[in-house]
Formats: sequence, C-alpha cells, structure tokens
Amino acid sequence: MRVCTLASGSKANATLVESGGTRLLVDCGLGPRILARRLAEAGVAPESIQAVVITHEHIDHIKGLAQAVAKWRWPVVSTAGTLAGIADLPADRLLATAYGAPRAIGECTVELVAVPHDAAEPAAVVITAHRSGARVGVATDLGHVPDGLGAAFERLDVLVFESNHDEVMLRNGPYPPFLQARIASSTGHLSNRQSGELLQHAAHRGLRHVLLAHLSQQNNAPDVAHAAARDALRRTAFKGTLACASQDGVTWPGTVGAGQIELGL
Ligand SMILES: [Zn+2]
Ligand SMILES: [Zn+2]
Repeated sequence: MRVCTLASGSKANATLVESGGTRLLVDCGLGPRILARRLAEAGVAPESIQAVVITHEHIDHIKGLAQAVAKWRWPVVSTAGTLAGIADLPADRLLATAYGAPRAIGECTVELVAVPHDAAEPAAVVITAHRSGARVGVATDLGHVPDGLGAAFERLDVLVFESNHDEVMLRNGPYPPFLQARIASSTGHLSNRQSGELLQHAAHRGLRHVLLAHLSQQNNAPDVAHAAARDALRRTAFKGTLACASQDGVTWPGTVGAGQIELGL
C-alpha cells in the first residue's frame, strides 16, 4: 500500500491510496492540470485511477471533480446526500454508498463513516487492502470526534487526520468572530487538542504512519500541530512516523525531503 496527500488544507484536498494495483483518490479539490502534475510526481497516471471517494461537497474537496470525471470517467463513491449536493456529475458515474456499507473497488474495500461537519452527509473514509489487510483511515473535516469514529479507526496502518487549528492562534488570529465561531463549533474543524484525543485512541503498535491534515495556514503551523500530536502520542504504544501534510505539494508519510517510500504493507 502507498498513501500520500496531493494537497491538504482549506484551499484544496486530495489523497492518493494505492494497493495491489488499485488506485483510489480521496477528494478532488485540485483542478485537472495541477492534479495530473501532482499524480505524475507520485508516479500515477490519472487514467489508472479506479474511483474517487468524496468526503463532502465543500469546494476545497470537489473543485476539480466534475472536470476530472468528464476527462477520466472515474466512478464517484460518496454518500447520497453528498452526491446530491454536487452539480455537473454524470449519473452513470455515481456510486451512492451508505455509511457503514462496504464497497469493493478492485483490490480494496471502501467504507464511509459518519462525521459531524456543516455539510449535507459528510464522511470519513476507511480503505482496506484485500490481500495484505492493510488499512488507511482519512478524516479531514469534522467539528468534533463522534462516538463511532474511534471504533472505525481501530487497527489502522496509516492515519490521515485533521489537525486544523491551534485554539489560541484561532482566538488571536485574523479571522472575524463569525468565522472563528464556525471553525471552533462542533460542526466546524478539529483543533490540535481535539485531534490529539483521537490520536491517543487510534494509536497502537501497528499504526505505522500518522499524517496530520487540513492544517490552517492562518491559525496553525506545522511545528505547533506536530508538537501537539507528539505530546498526545507520547503516552501510547505508537512507534510510527508523524508528519504534516502540505497544502501545496505531495506529502509522503514518514518521508524526509522529497523522496517517497513504499509502506511495505
Ligand atoms: Zn475542507
Ligand atoms: Zn468542509
């Protein structure tokens, strides 16, 4: 299994998951040109992607979706509520999928998990590789950690998880009060502190890589988010790598510099 983010943050989101020859994209917030360039950096041709999984209909997750589906004919896996909120998708490409109902795509199974966020029917995603049993969890926009997420995110090998803002930086930051309130609300985004609580729950000896995602460029900083997560994970069995996903480039978990790694899963 290989996992990397192609973009992560409030401007655009896309994550690549590849296992046993099956390539899946989670979210499509990049336009086709930049998306194709980032995929090329990851050694992947857009035509070889078997499906795109959409977490919710906010623009930073679907900005390039209609164009990409028109161009590359990807099937779109998402909840019915999310699909209903996205314009210009061909009906014959839509795979409406209920929370908790496993959907097999090639060598992988995709499962959607309910999360609280101010969108129609938003989801976190768990992808399991059939052959190796490796599991990756992706959750990037949630106002709080819901009851079911801890169980869904048990025994993961790779976790891509929101660490949106530092609570003090948000309070003292440039955003107007209404926007601060939306972000901090129970249907907005997770703070580093809230993120740490889920990390403590999800941490186990087999968790190989944690990639902190959807970091705010105004109300957070990679070193701040990283330190908070490291503190949260210190008292757990976690022995893996910890990194922050970039807004503007490809991020491989556990990688130093520009190289990429095979997870060997
Ligand atoms: Zn978002
Ligand atoms: Zn959102």
